[in-house]
Amino acid sequence: MAIGRVARLDRARTRRKRTFVIPLLGVVVLAVVAIGTGVALGIFRAAPQGVQKGHVAVPASAAAPSAVASLPASEESSGTGAMVEVPNVTGKSLSDAETLLTIAGFVVSRVATPAGEAATGTVLAQEPASGSVVERGAQVTLTYAEDSAAVAPSGKTNDPESSTNGRVYVVCVDPGHQDKANSSTEPIGPGSTTMKAKVSGGATGAVTKQREPDFTLKVSLRLKRLLEAQGVKVVMTRTTGAVDISNAQRAAVGNRAKADLLIRVHADGSTNGDVRGLSTLYPAGNDWVRPYTAKSLLAAKAVHHALLLTTGAVDRGIVQRSDMTGFNWAKVPSLIVECGFMSNPAEDKLLASDAYQAKLAEGMTRGILAYLWGE
Ligand SMILES: [Zn+2]
Repeated sequence: MAIGRVARLDRARTRRKRTFVIPLLGVVVLAVVAIGTGVALGIFRAAPQGVQKGHVAVPASAAAPSAVASLPASEESSGTGAMVEVPNVTGKSLSDAETLLTIAGFVVSRVATPAGEAATGTVLAQEPASGSVVERGAQVTLTYAEDSAAVAPSGKTNDPESSTNGRVYVVCVDPGHQDKANSSTEPIGPGSTTMKAKVSGGATGAVTKQREPDFTLKVSLRLKRLLEAQGVKVVMTRTTGAVDISNAQRAAVGNRAKADLLIRVHADGSTNGDVRGLSTLYPAGNDWVRPYTAKSLLAAKAVHHALLLTTGAVDRGIVQRSDMTGFNWAKVPSLIVECGFMSNPAEDKLLASDAYQAKLAEGMTRGILAYLWGE
């Protein structure tokens, strides 16, 4: 690609980003408020034991004891005095630093200083220093390089070129299931003797009879368009229902793409038609996924809270899973959005509507960008 074209693309991406940053930060701030409220109300909870978690069968033997659906106490449990480590944001752009800190639960204040030799908008210092252990919700003060010719009290108009350093992020989108299930089995992770079906059939709408493989593809194609409009490269595991790709093979697509995130789109089903709501699953609890757990959780939080805001769905929480083949074979951060219950008549109708599918794709996009740009 010619340099001139790269430069044009960079400028175009920056323009697009500017238009997105303010609503995005709004969402992040609201998300943090939501997190705080959730913690206060104790609504971030493990999926109740004994409740069927979606349509994915969970063989008891497959789940390690630590795979019980719960979040680490340090992450989501309530209580004053939860201590968290301050990440290193020095050298990042102000907007990236603010996004990262906000997602991590800090309050950000800023102090401008003349740019000098530094690139405008770069964070030059932070207080407390990275690695400090402080109470969740503590304030972090960022000293950043300000362009004296373009004072921007809000900082937003100073959103610098360096935000992505010209980097093109890659997101692998996996629309769950396919037209025909494949019940032959594969190991749930590299070297495992525990086997699961390569691809299950998925849920079906209680009223609309919409099939999950069709639903996930529609939402995923919307998501692809929205991400591409923000300059993100999207790799799809499938763009039609007439495929036969196992869950392990889908993870391999994300691995080959060296994706910054693998997002798997699904919907739930239950024998209890009253159950409804949205949950986000992330890999944790076994050795296969350990290198990717922290980033996956960060992405899951950003996507989950953005989705709750765009959809107004019932919050069924962020849930760790160790038994998902499509997680265990992934060598990149990953998550699953369970968009809602197709077995619930009201939610089924929502999930089948264009308007709601658009909200789902928008929420996923906002959450993914908050995660990527805050990285
Ligand atoms: Zn599914």
